[in-house]
Parts: sequence; structure tokens; C-alpha cells
Amino acid sequence: QAFLTRIDQHNQAINAYISLDHDKTLAQAKVADAMLASNTASTLTGIPIAQKDIFVAKGWKTTCGSKMLENFIGPYDAGVIERFDAIGAVNLGKTNMDEFAMGSSNETSYFGKVQNPWDRSRVPGGSSGGSAAAVAARLCAAATGTDTGGSIRQPASLCGLSGLKPTYGLVSRYGMIAFASSLDQAGPMAKSCEDMALMMNVMTGFDERDSTSLNREKEDYTRGFAQLSADKPLAGLRVGLPKEYFAEGLSADVAKVIETAIAKYRKLGAEIVDVSLPNTMLSIPVYYVLAPAEASSNLSRFDGVRYGHRAAEYTDLMDMYCKSRAEGFGAEVKRRILIGTYVLSAGYFDAYYLKAQKIRRLIAQDFAEAFKKCDIILGPTAPSTAFKAGEKADDPVAMYLQDIYTIAVNLAGLPGMSIPAGFVEQDGKSLPVGLQIIGNYFDEARMLQAGHAYQ
Ligand code: GLN
Repeated sequence: QAFLTRIDQHNQAINAYISLDHDKTLAQAKVADAMLASNTASTLTGIPIAQKDIFVAKGWKTTCGSKMLENFIGPYDAGVIERFDAIGAVNLGKTNMDEFAMGSSNETSYFGKVQNPWDRSRVPGGSSGGSAAAVAARLCAAATGTDTGGSIRQPASLCGLSGLKPTYGLVSRYGMIAFASSLDQAGPMAKSCEDMALMMNVMTGFDERDSTSLNREKEDYTRGFAQLSADKPLAGLRVGLPKEYFAEGLSADVAKVIETAIAKYRKLGAEIVDVSLPNTMLSIPVYYVLAPAEASSNLSRFDGVRYGHRAAEYTDLMDMYCKSRAEGFGAEVKRRILIGTYVLSAGYFDAYYLKAQKIRRLIAQDFAEAFKKCDIILGPTAPSTAFKAGEKADDPVAMYLQDIYTIAVNLAGLPGMSIPAGFVEQDGKSLPVGLQIIGNYFDEARMLQAGHAYQ
């Protein structure tokens, strides 16, 4: 009730939530009460969380930020939603996002942009901008996000919170509306590494309904916290700094905060080593071939026939498809479908798609080499602090560069997270800066431990 009251007071301005249903939320809270009373509660029972509107939830409007799904009511629960429901967490509502998770500023949502609570003239980042703003403005205890090329980590960085993209395959994609299936992964957005570890304990696990879900033993992601000693808690941890992440393109004020954070890691006992990820600069062009290719295929299901928007007037079937899609999708989604269809077309497949797949492998090998020398990699999450709304809206390439430090992680399938590192003062406001921690496959517990020691 306390969170719902805050939401009623502040959401109209921030626009973090796009679907609220207080009756449903309070009914779930009652279920949690009953679990607490009957001793069947676990750690997150009764904890109110916000769900990104990319997760299908039964009886909830599920729009993916698009006019295409404006009136779509979820007929079933996504794997992630099921898992939170099963332990009695409470769904506060569905959060705003860039349309079909395409964007880095939450300005492409059909339901309007989201404000960054630290400076409301600035963007919260994207595509999980609604989830990030909701956590930052204390409109929920924690939230879920999804990250295809940075959409958990970059908004976490811009809104001063913690966000984790797990190893590809750890969290079920069942019922998570597909953008680029080989890259999409859901994860937690919260105030601290401790909170994220508790959420990971709920979110991860095998799901046979997702063909790329990994069948692994369940882990306890909080296990590293108790082992931290007061003196030099990170002794023995080798921290790699990729030189490409500290080169041209990184704003000077962000670089300063990150350097201070690295100095603190040294104090905590970590050993700092230099590493190189030579193909970093290729990650954006590779991503903008592969992600649109997959998106153009995934989004072909929105044809006006089975679900979603259908044009009111049309002459024949082809006209119905064309008009429904022309009306239902926004400009950025159309741009991606056009690029994707182009790179997959017969005459261009080898030159673009196949080549991009080969470079994707090289990018993964860069990390494999780096992890021979270090246990975790540290660097900036985003090249700048939150920018002004509208500043990059007309320049897709400038927008795409927001993900220069995050995208390679998705291409390699690795886990990556962002934690608050410090602040930059700008226009009389404090703007948060995120520190990125990249780990080897399945090394989330160690990353969370390293983040917790810093926090
Ligand atoms: N900003 C990137 C894009 O627009 C990443 C989005 C995401 O991770 N969902 O594709």
C-alpha cells in the first residue's frame, strides 16, 4: 500500500509505470500475508516489485511499449512472472520501456517518455527505463529488466542503481516478448548487489519451454557475501581493465569517477591488470546487423491476424498486413525491420549477416583471452551520464553509441552488471555514473561479491 500511494503521487510525472491494477496488486499482497502466516514464506515473499512490460502476465495488459500491443491482455504468465508469483512476491505494475526494447533513452515508447528522477529533463536510459526510474524514485523495492545490448545496465547506470544481465540461458525467455532471441536475457534491477542476488535466486533456473534455457543446478547467489573479510576483502581477485574502454568516446567526467572506483578496488585488495578487447569497436556494427536481423524475423508475427493491432479499413489480406504494421509500429521499430530484412535478403546475406556472425565469434574470443589474465573486468557502463531528453532522438547512430561498452557482453553471452560508482555535478544536479563489472560465464556470484565489497 505504501508503494501504491507513492506511485499515485509521483508516477504521472515520471511515467515509469504504464499499467497499474491496484486490486490485483493488493490481492497478491494478501496471498503473501497468508504465506507468511502459514510459514511457507521465503526471503522475497511480500516484496513489491515492478515488472518490465515485455513480460506476458496473465490478466495484465502487456504492450511492450508499442501501439501494436496497446490492447493486448496476457493470456498466460511468462516464466519470470511465474517464479516471482510462486514465492509470493507482489507485482506492483508493468513498467514503461522503449518500443519492443529498441532504444537507449526510453523515448521510443508509444506511451511517452520516462523522466530520470535525478534530473527530470534528462532520459533514464533504455530500454528498461521505466524499471530504472521506478527503482530510483522508490516507486518499487526492485524491478525486472531485459538486456539485449545494454538495456538493464545502461539505465541502471544513468539512474544510479544496480542492474545485472545474467549469462545467456540462465533466466527463462518463455513469455518474454522476443526482440533478438540470441541476445535477449532478463535480469534484476535493484538498489544493491544483495537485493540483486536475492532476485537472481528467484529468477534463474531451467525452463523446458525456452529452447536455450540451461539445465544447471540452482545456485545461491548470496553465498559470497558472508566470506568477505573486513581487511582486504578482495585479496586475490584479478581485475582486468580493457584499454579500449578507456579510449576516445568516454567523457572525461565519467572517466574520473571510474578511475576513483578502480583505486578503491585496489584498496580492497584486488590486483589490477591490463587487458585488451581489440574488437570492441566492431561490436556496434555487428550488433546492428544481427539484432535487427533477428528482430525482423521475430516481429513478423505481428501481422494483424492473430493478435495486436489491426487496421480498421483495408481492401485485401496484403493491404491488411501492410496497414496494420504501418500503423502499429513506431519509427525505430520500422528502421530495425528494414535493416534486418535487408541484411537477410538473398544477395546480401553473406556480406552482412554471415560476416557479422564471424566477427561475433572473434568478440567472444577476445573475452576468452582476457579471462586468462583476470577474474573480472571493470570499466564504464555508458560513455556519458544521462543526456537531455530529445538530445539524441534524431540521431540513431549517436544513440547506438550509448551501448559501446555493453553490447559485446551480449554478443559473447557473458554476464555483465552495473553498480553505482559515484556522481558528476552538472547544471546544479548530481548525475549518477555506473561502474560495469563483466564476468566469465556463470560467474555471477563472484561479480555480485565484488560489487557488494565496493558498495
Ligand atoms: N540500445 C540497444 C538497442 O536499441 C539495446 C537494447 C536492449 O538491450 N534491449 O538495440
